[in-house]
Amino acid sequence: VKTIGVLALQGAITEHLQMLVHLQVKAEPVKTREDLATVDALIIPGGESTAISRLIQQQGLFNEIQKFAKTHPVLGTCAGLILCAKHIIQSDNKVIPLDLIDMTVERNGFGRQVDSFETTLAVSNIADDIPAVFIRAPFIQSVGKDVKVLSVCDDKIVMAEQGNILVMSFHPELTKDTRVFEYFIKKIQ
Ligand code: GLN
Repeated sequence: VKTIGVLALQGAITEHLQMLVHLQVKAEPVKTREDLATVDALIIPGGESTAISRLIQQQGLFNEIQKFAKTHPVLGTCAGLILCAKHIIQSDNKVIPLDLIDMTVERNGFGRQVDSFETTLAVSNIADDIPAVFIRAPFIQSVGKDVKVLSVCDDKIVMAEQGNILVMSFHPELTKDTRVFEYFIKKIQ
C-alpha cells in the first residue's frame, strides 16, 4: 500500500490529510527524517514559507527532502510551491528554497494586488474548470526548459510540473474538487 506523507511542520496540514483520507489513500504526517523514510510521496502544504523553511532546517530535513524528491513524487502548494523553487524573488533571505524544480517564484505575488480570491482555472492534463483558492499566493515568474506550465491566471504562471514534482500557487485542499490530487496520486503508481 502506497502512503502519502504531508510535511507537518506548519500550515494547512490537516486539510491535506483529510483530503487524502477522503480519497482512500493512506496518509501520514511527516515531521522527521524517520517519518520521511516511511512514505512514497510528499505534500509540502501552504502556510508561512519562512516558518516552514526554518523548521525544515531545524529538523535536518533539507538534504533529506532533496534526496527524496529525486526518486519520489512531491506536491507543493502555495508556501510549499515557494519552497520547491530554485530561486525566490525576495528582499530578505529567510526562505531557503529546496531547488526541486527549475523555476523562479515571487512570494506574495498576488497578495500585493488582492489578499485572497477564488477562481476557476484551465489546467493542462486535468480539466478546464478547476476551482482554485488563492491566499496571499505566490506566482511563478519564469520556468526552465524542462518545466511544463500547466496553468496561467492573469498572465501569471500558477501551476507547473517537472517530472515527479508538481507545484501550484493555489490551495486544492480547500475545495471539494479532488482532481488535482487524483492527478498527483497517479504519479505514485
Ligand atoms: N504568503 C505565504 C508565504 O510567503 C504563502 C501563503 C500560503 O501558503 N497561503 O509563505
